[in-house]
Formats: sequence, C-alpha cells, structure tokens
Amino acid sequence: MNNVPELFGSMVFNDTVMQERLPKQTYKALKKTISDGAPLDISVANVVANAMKDWAVERGVTHYTHWFQPMTGITAEKHDSFISPTSEGKVIMEFSGKELIKGEPDASSFPSGGLRATFEARGYTAWDPTSYAFIKDGILCIPTAFCSYGGEVLDKKTPLLRSTDALSKQTLRVLKLFGSDATKVTSTVGPEQEYFLIDEDIYNARRDLMYTGRTLFGAKAPKGQELEDHYFGSIKPRVSAYMKELDEELWKLGVLAKTKHNEVAPAQHELAPIYTDTNTATDHNQLTMELMKKVAAHHHMVCLLHEKPFAGVNGSGKHNNWSISTNTGVNLLDPGTTPAENAQFLLFLAAIIKAVDDYQDLLRISVASAGNDHRLGANEAPPAIVSIFLGDELAGIVNSIITGTPYNKSADSVMQIGVDVLPVFPKDTTDRNRTSPFAFTGNKFEFRMLGSSFSIACTNTFINTIVAESLRQFADELEGAENLNAAIAALVKKTFTDHQRIIFNGNNYSEEWVQEAERRGLLNLKNTPEALHYYVAEKNIRLFERHKVFSEKEVRSRYEILLENYSKVINIEALTMLDMAKKDIFPAVVDYGKELSETINAKKAACPDVVVDAETALLKKLSALTSCLYKKIAALDAALLDVKFHTEVEDCAKYYGSSVINAMNELRAVADELEVITAKSAWPFPSYGDMLFSIK
Ligand code: ADP
Ligand code: MG
Repeated sequence: MNNVPELFGSMVFNDTVMQERLPKQTYKALKKTISDGAPLDISVANVVANAMKDWAVERGVTHYTHWFQPMTGITAEKHDSFISPTSEGKVIMEFSGKELIKGEPDASSFPSGGLRATFEARGYTAWDPTSYAFIKDGILCIPTAFCSYGGEVLDKKTPLLRSTDALSKQTLRVLKLFGSDATKVTSTVGPEQEYFLIDEDIYNARRDLMYTGRTLFGAKAPKGQELEDHYFGSIKPRVSAYMKELDEELWKLGVLAKTKHNEVAPAQHELAPIYTDTNTATDHNQLTMELMKKVAAHHHMVCLLHEKPFAGVNGSGKHNNWSISTNTGVNLLDPGTTPAENAQFLLFLAAIIKAVDDYQDLLRISVASAGNDHRLGANEAPPAIVSIFLGDELAGIVNSIITGTPYNKSADSVMQIGVDVLPVFPKDTTDRNRTSPFAFTGNKFEFRMLGSSFSIACTNTFINTIVAESLRQFADELEGAENLNAAIAALVKKTFTDHQRIIFNGNNYSEEWVQEAERRGLLNLKNTPEALHYYVAEKNIRLFERHKVFSEKEVRSRYEILLENYSKVINIEALTMLDMAKKDIFPAVVDYGKELSETINAKKAACPDVVVDAETALLKKLSALTSCLYKKIAALDAALLDVKFHTEVEDCAKYYGSSVINAMNELRAVADELEVITAKSAWPFPSYGDMLFSIK
C-alpha cells in the first residue's frame, strides 16, 4: 500500500466530494442541514441524490440501500437498483431526492417490542445527512434512521441523535455562563474493538460456534493465557495479512483505523480507531465489525465477536472512550491550564460523577446481554458494579474540595475552584487501573463494560442523556446565581460530596470491593434480567421523556425487546447443547466405551492372565460419566419444557437466567470431564487447543 492518503475515504461521499460535485448553493444548503439540522428542501435533495448517483455509478455501483441499525444490534440493508425504464424499452440510471430522503422497507420482521403490529408492517427509513454515504460491496449505502409509521423509533441511531441534541443543548447552557461562543457540542468516541480469529475448518466443525458464536462445550487446553506471552506479542503472518487487508478496507470507508495488536488471550486481537463524533464512530464501529468478519473469510479464518467465546480465557470487550467537544475545538474534559478552565473542568467532572451515580442502573443496562453476562465480573472484565476511577491526583483534588484540606503535601493551601490551576495529568499516570468500569484517562472517560459484539449506540445514548440531565440541573441552578464563581464552587463541592460513593480507585476485581460497594449502597446487578428490570423505573422513563430521547412507550418496547432477546439467545444455546450432546457426544462416548470393552475382551481372550485394570478402570469411569451425561441431558430437556409456565416476559428471562443456565452448566461440566478421558480420535469436535492455537 503506497498511497494511504489517496485510498483513505475513496469510497465515501464526503465533504471533499460534495464540494467538488455539488453546485455551490446546494452544497451550502446541505451543510446547513448537517450542522444545524435545518430541513432539507426536496429540490436540494434531488441535486444531491443525482450527484451521489453519478459518483457511485462511476465506481461501478448499480444499487443503493438505506443502511440502518435496527434493534438486532447489527445493520440492515435492502438493495434497490438505480434502473428506470425509458419509452424505448431501455433503462437509465436514476436516483431521486425522494428516494434519498426516505425509504419504506417492509420491516415487519425486525424486533419492535409491540410498537408495530405485523398488520401495520410499514416502517420508514430517513436519511441521516450527518453521516456520510459510502460504497460497500458495490452498493451505495445511505446511513438512515428507522421509525414506525406512528413515528416511534425502531432503531439505535435515532435515540443516539436525539441524545446528542440533548447533550448539546444543556452543555451550551453551562458553557454560556463561562462566556463560550460555541454553538454546538457533540460527544466524541473512540471504541477499541477486541476479537478472536480462528481457523475456518475448525470453526465449521463446531456447531456451537456456528449457531451461538461461543463454545458450549470444551475442556480447558493445557495452555491458556497464563504465560502472558500473547499480549502485544509478534503478530503471526496469517493474522498480519488479515489485519493489513482489514486496515485498507476500513480506510477506503473513511474509518480511522489506527492501532492493532495481539490481546491477552491466545488468538485474541484488538483494533482501535482514532476517535470521532459519536454518530460517525457508531456507524464506523458497525462497519468495522462487519468487515472484520468479511475479511476473515478471505484468509480462511472466522472472526468471533462474541464476548465470551471460550471459557477459562479472557472474553472480548469494547472500550468506549468518551468525551465532549465543542464546535470551537475545545475538549471539555481536558483539565486546561487557566483558573477559568479549571472551574469549567471541575464542573463537567462533577456533572459526570453525578450522572454515573444517579444512573448506575442505565449504564449497567446498556451493556446487558446474555453474552456479556459471562464476562462482567469474571477476572478480565470490570464487575457488574458501576464505579468511577479518577486516579490518585484527581481523586486527591476531589477529596480536598470535599474536606476543605490541602490536596497534597507540596500545596499548603486549600484548592480554590476557579482560582488555582489544576496540575497537568499525564495520561500514563491516570490510566493505571484497568479494573475500573468507568475510568478517567487524562482527557476523556473510558467505559470498559461493553461486550465486543455490542453496538455502541445504546451506551452513548445513555451517557449523553444522563450527563445532559446533570448539566440541566446545574444550569438551572447557576443561571440565576448572583455570584457565579461562588455558586460554581459551592455546587462542585456539594456534588462531589453527595456522590463520592461512586468513586473507587482500588481493585474492582476484589471480593472486598463487592462488600464495600454494598455498604456504599451501590447497585450490583449480576445478570441481564436483574439489570433490565431497572430500565422501566419511573426515574429512567422521566429522564428519557424530559430529554426527548425516548417516549415511555419506546422505553417499554426496548425493555421487552432486550428481555426477549436474552431468552431467545439462551434458548438457542440450550437447544444447540442438546443437539451436540445427543447426536455427537453421547454416541462418541458410547462408541469409545465399546472400543475399550472390546479391547479388554480381546486382550483377555488372547492372554487370560493379562492385566487389564487400567482399561477396566477407565471403562468404569467412562460409563459412570456417560450415565451422568444422559441424566443431565434429560434435566436440560425438562428445564426447557418448563419454559411454558413462564409466560410473562421478565419472569421468562429470569427462568432462563437461572434454571435453564444451571442445567446447561451441569451438562457442560459432565461433557468436559468426559472429553478429558476420551481419546482425541474418538472426540467429535476440535478441542480448545485446536481452536486457540491453530493459526500459524
Ligand atoms: P488504551 O489501550 O490505553 O486504552 P488506546 O490508545 O488504545 O488506549 O485507545 C484510546 C482511544 O481513545 C483511541 O481510540 C483514541 O482515539 C480515543 N480518544 C482519545 N481522545 C479522545 C477523546 N477526546 N474523545 C474520545 N475518545 C478519545
Ligand atoms: Mg482501553
């Protein structure tokens, strides 16, 4: 690759292309829509659509699609060609403004949580001009929002855009008090994406991976991640070739792929982009996940994005680095170098601390899924308890403000908000704690609880909204203040004091923290049904309504969709386990038992006083475990039959999360024990060792 700058964004209808191809007036009108959300005139849309189509057709494109993000968590597309018949029986390539702005997919098969009955199946997609159109696989993709005909949102993008507006509105109120001339604010996000790569043939031999994305059986390999020899290790040639192609494909789409390295677990890797505005970052992360899978196929590998594909080694997460930026180029979480910046920074810090404390439940909900339940709280991921890490220096400052004492030995006076200048926090001293779910890392916060397969839309919708709510309360209080500086100082002190329980700088993986968090009254929502229960809490519904992010109906529909999804995922996993246990594992161990019996008999026949105690002992153990396996299969079958007694959606999810999962765990334990004593040639699937160490 010799010309990355030329390649970068070559498949994107970006600002440069717009300037080149659109008449000046059209370009100006479109820019106004992009920056202020001004409605787009149909005559302008017609010109834009035509220019987009010409640009795309020159690149061999024949179809377009409204590319949207339904509640499935992945992207959806339906391809329409540009052809339009002429009276001479030929076709011309056409694309109108109307087609650009609005699409009407028959969307009855997307999850809607009761918002759209199938008899009223129509939904519509509406162009989001704030995210650039792009060409993927020869299709012109137009990023869009997805709504029902009644106007209720059915996707992940619309609430994200609404939450960005809410954050902008409230932040600007606060910034105005500081004399800022910013007119728009947006959150910025850099999502670090973890993934596993395994060999395609090995993947194809495991139905659990194919149906569920994770291994439902499998004894530990003799080697795991304990030597810590994979993290940042040299990248194997096959993986390296994959990463190179992935980078190039992402660059073509304007994705700022920046960092790539091996992760902690064997066969695990990470890609991090340079951060951008949250809407773009969300679209780009979806594209990244899609391309990770597609490009892997070119290298006869499969990319696993499940958060816990293998038991006993690290799962995969996604770190959501989040900050707020103004359109005047200021990062509001940069501590700054003047007293005024100090006051402003501490106020925003206070807003975030308050938001995370008041809405711990929402942050936990935003990362709740059947897959991520295996990860949160395990030793490699932050626990299910939400807390904030500030680092020693910043925690010291916060503490000195709360207690009114000097914040370190060298400073002999008490920190004065808006008078003193904060010390510079070098990034590497603020980011030592890898166990914290929500860590300050010098000029941004890093939320580490997301699972690798998640869309980042929900998390950022929630973070934007809860911070907007803190800022709304702050602005209400400060706008009328007679002495602004004194009011800010008092508000910051009060907020730090009221919400200090959410700050924790110690080891989040320790058992002591679990107990300490309980004493502090922090939530510990251990699994998805427990967490989702809080989605529809009155305070959360009011929050979303107030900031016009969701209506109550929309919140309730999301709650249902997520609970149903959870139950469905576990149901598929349970059925897959039963299928594998009955059709593969049971027959395999019975055969192996037969082989052992025949060996014993043959040996005895050949030589009556031969010693066969080892074979006999193994046969006995195998038979005992086989009998146990049979019982555990029956128990899981029975647990699934009883699902019918749990018709209410939350009750049903809870049942899956307890009884069904318990039966699954018990079945797995026996099968894994059998794997350990069965000959490799007799075992029906590739082992953990085969999966984790097969790529050269
Ligand atoms: P680490 O692995 O130490 O967590 P990385 O450098 O891999 O850190 O990732 C940090 C991520 O944070 C990158 O995606 C980077 O672009 C992003 N980032 C940096 N500054 C900001 C910011 N102001 N807002 C949002 N994300 C940011
Ligand atoms: Mg990180």
